[in-house]
Amino acid sequence: MVYENILQEIESRQELLCALNDYIWDHPEIAFQEKKASNRIIEILEAEGFAVERGLAGLPTAFSASFGEGHPVVAVLGEYDALDGLSQKADCFHREKEPDTELGHGCGHQALGTGALGAVLGIKRFLEDCKIQGTVVYYGCPAEEGGSGKSFMVRDGVFDDVDCAFTWHPCDSTDLFSGRTLAVIGVTYHFTGVSAHAAGLAHIGRSALDAVELMNVGANYLREHVPQETRIHYAITDAGGKSPNVVPAKASVFYYLRSPEPDTLLEIYERVNKIAEGAALMTGTQVEVEYHKGMNSLLPNTVLDNIMYDNLKSVPYMEYTEEDIHYAGKMKDTIQNQQTTFEELLAVLDHEDKQKILPGREDVIYRFIKPRPSIEPLMYGSTDVGDVSRVCPVSQIHAATWAAGTQMHTWQAVAQGKSSILHKGMLYAAKVMACSAADVFTAPEFIEQAKKEMKERTAGQKAVTLMFADAKPQLTRR
Ligand SMILES: [Zn+2]
Repeated sequence: MVYENILQEIESRQELLCALNDYIWDHPEIAFQEKKASNRIIEILEAEGFAVERGLAGLPTAFSASFGEGHPVVAVLGEYDALDGLSQKADCFHREKEPDTELGHGCGHQALGTGALGAVLGIKRFLEDCKIQGTVVYYGCPAEEGGSGKSFMVRDGVFDDVDCAFTWHPCDSTDLFSGRTLAVIGVTYHFTGVSAHAAGLAHIGRSALDAVELMNVGANYLREHVPQETRIHYAITDAGGKSPNVVPAKASVFYYLRSPEPDTLLEIYERVNKIAEGAALMTGTQVEVEYHKGMNSLLPNTVLDNIMYDNLKSVPYMEYTEEDIHYAGKMKDTIQNQQTTFEELLAVLDHEDKQKILPGREDVIYRFIKPRPSIEPLMYGSTDVGDVSRVCPVSQIHAATWAAGTQMHTWQAVAQGKSSILHKGMLYAAKVMACSAADVFTAPEFIEQAKKEMKERTAGQKAVTLMFADAKPQLTRR
């Protein structure tokens, strides 16, 4: 439900929050390097009386900031990492990079971390005003992009005392961000053979590249015999050299294995390991398995999702100016291959929502909340929120921060990173998360129900985390 003091608090922090968003956008930092972003967020939280703990799970840019006492402990998850190769000028309607950096906020994480901060400031005000017992914690989570910071934090027990968590993600639309994702394992197979002249002494050589190729053939035959939703993809990261007349002594292949069910994924991982061993046997080479990381699939939580969805509907929606509409229209014109059409959505919207997107010119920006799907969707990607969702119930939303049709990890997403529409979406997301947290603090029985649901959904599953003890924090691609 809507809490006026929360809305008021977040509104009054508008200037601070927009400036923080813009600062993080102006200083993009890649996975595990987010010093400026995390320090600035910590500065603000410390000034607000939050107790800060830095360096969680051995990650220098991971931190927690808590306010209040005892249970319930409600967390809000923040991210702030940028992407390599996505440098882009702000508010520019064509591709043009910033001259002094290769990095850019192509996934809107500058707003994600800032919106989460807005939420905890709103929750703090609510706890103080209403004299309610409990603790709100901001978790600064580094390296969502290709580093899986949260998975290391889960492995090291950072969220063990948390009762439930809320988060959000910038998007071109507004909806509940719920459904299953794919659990993923990232692993590199390094083959070592014997180098030799490929014509003169080929019989002495043992080709590591042959092993990589045979392993890939084996993995491709495996596809027929794994569950339908499995994904197996690889990149040859070391082909052994550039000279055909040298038998390669070293070669490596990097695999991503994905499946909705963590236990199934562990079985597939064992089978792929056997294929690697087989390739080594066939070629007289040795193989070394380097396990990079694993992330669990997202576990939706209907109890918390219902609360978030109600708040999506009851918190006043963004109001756009003529200027916003014009800006979004110009940006939308630069986007090709738009996946979502408003015509498709019109078919499922109720009358009230239909009115909001007419006349047609307004289809440049989402002015309504997408309906909840009738069945839980399976999203063919992976997120480190998946790991958190298996130790404490999590609910997340999308809020429209970009022109309709804008995809994540594109220059258009970067270009809109300091725009008025992004600021509005970020503040709206902060309000929805804060009001949802207030609902939970007011009626803690929701937490018991949410935990019960989490336990029932994970009953009988072995894998709590796929981040094995030997996985080391590093940037990999996703
Ligand atoms: Zn993202």
